[in-house]
Amino acid sequence: MKTIALIAHDRKKEEMLSLVLENRDVLSQYDLIATATTGKIIKENAELVITTYLSGPLGGDQQIGSRVACQKVDMVIFLRDPLAAQPHEPDITALLRLCDVHNIPVATNASTAKLLLQSLRAKA
Ligand code: PGA
Repeated sequence: MKTIALIAHDRKKEEMLSLVLENRDVLSQYDLIATATTGKIIKENAELVITTYLSGPLGGDQQIGSRVACQKVDMVIFLRDPLAAQPHEPDITALLRLCDVHNIPVATNASTAKLLLQSLRAKA
């Protein structure tokens, strides 16, 4: 089964949850992975099965990056907060770089994420 990674910075978590709820039917057909807090919120509110890694600032982005490097992730939805400095900025840059290295579709805002999810819907 194909895998989608979901990550949202704190001020983007509500937007992530709305996106997930709107696309729950599509997402339920994929293996989902997430950083700790993002995954917890999705599990509790959307009742989807989701594998969680560490929180982003504690290394979760790097863990997901390693999955991308091993070709184990097929899409990344990473709702970044562009208006706040993150303590783990180098990890964020590294994850996005690995998506580019391995040509993995990555959305960093909700509009792009919706387009990617629409494309999955069209394929189904
Ligand atoms: P979180 O990590 O889902 O545990 O909040 C995401 C991040 O802040 O990078």
